[in-house]
Amino acid sequence: MDEFSFINAIKQNYYKQSSLIKGIGDDAAVFTQTSKGIVTAVDTFVEHVHFSKETMSPFHVGYRTLAANISDLAAMGATPAFYLVSIVVPPTWADEDLKDIFQGMNSLAHKHHLDLIGGDTVSGSELVITITVIGYVPKDKVRYRHTAQAEDIVFVTGTLGDSQAGLHILQDKGQYIDEDYFIKRHRMPEPKVNFAKRLRHISRVTLNDISDGLANEASEIAEASRVNIVLKDDLIPLRSSLSQFSMSLQHKWAYFGGEDFELLGTVARKNWDQVKVIAKQTNTSVTEIGYIEECPVTLGQVYLMKDHKKQRLHKKGYTHLK
Ligand code: ADP
Ligand code: MG
Repeated sequence: MDEFSFINAIKQNYYKQSSLIKGIGDDAAVFTQTSKGIVTAVDTFVEHVHFSKETMSPFHVGYRTLAANISDLAAMGATPAFYLVSIVVPPTWADEDLKDIFQGMNSLAHKHHLDLIGGDTVSGSELVITITVIGYVPKDKVRYRHTAQAEDIVFVTGTLGDSQAGLHILQDKGQYIDEDYFIKRHRMPEPKVNFAKRLRHISRVTLNDISDGLANEASEIAEASRVNIVLKDDLIPLRSSLSQFSMSLQHKWAYFGGEDFELLGTVARKNWDQVKVIAKQTNTSVTEIGYIEECPVTLGQVYLMKDHKKQRLHKKGYTHLK
């Protein structure tokens, strides 16, 4: 398949976004400015580094790659609208595989009303996909990570560690409970766009999506907001069947695993009931897992309350409080 027929094959028949003026087919795409803030993010995925054919079908490669990008927009409170895909294609990937990658992206894009408006296609030695997403958000409702305040509660959507459990199951063949669930969580994560958008009624919410693990995301909020976060180990939401794995694996996956693409957030306690209502309305589970310290001595740190002890939770592993 030549580049021209490939682009024709992945081109949408019609576009959903009314702000789009020109999609695929010219030197560049064109969309209109609105009164809202334009939010954009880019992510690159490299075969053998971020995924492999052994654990991901081409369809899932596309789905998962776009999901990670959409999740970044969700964490800004934005409504995704467009995406552009740059792809480096090695000779080892068949035309059908490529179409499946775009089918995977398309199936998620469809759910969230995104239009594919451009990209680039070149050959190379390894499969590399770079996706740029573009979305909109009212300027006063952008969910920055620097807005957490003392006494906020810390919450998280969904359950943590599932994606890494799924990867473990795919790599280490055996008998597992709830296998399909964990594998789906790894291959087809669901970015929490609707939940984040509905939080717009609340004036101040801090959000970060969990791509690199809870410890790391919490640390990013703590540092950017110059506050300390205290997480409570017994409140961290885990899928009940995660208990089939050792305590140390559960701990590792929940705090450092990442790729669950759930949202970690903070909100004033007075708004917590509202968050729970919005979660219910958007079919999202949400759990209070900690709080922002009131009068911290140091700033920008994350602590874990575990077995009645308060320990420092580092981005990758933790040390006991002296
Ligand atoms: P140019 O030579 O002007 O860069 P290309 O031949 O690279 O144009 O692309 C032609 C059109 O197809 C452009 O609109 C471009 O955005 C789109 N396109 C090319 N590759 C992709 C891709 N992988 N995904 C989406 N759109 C693509
Ligand atoms: Mg080009």
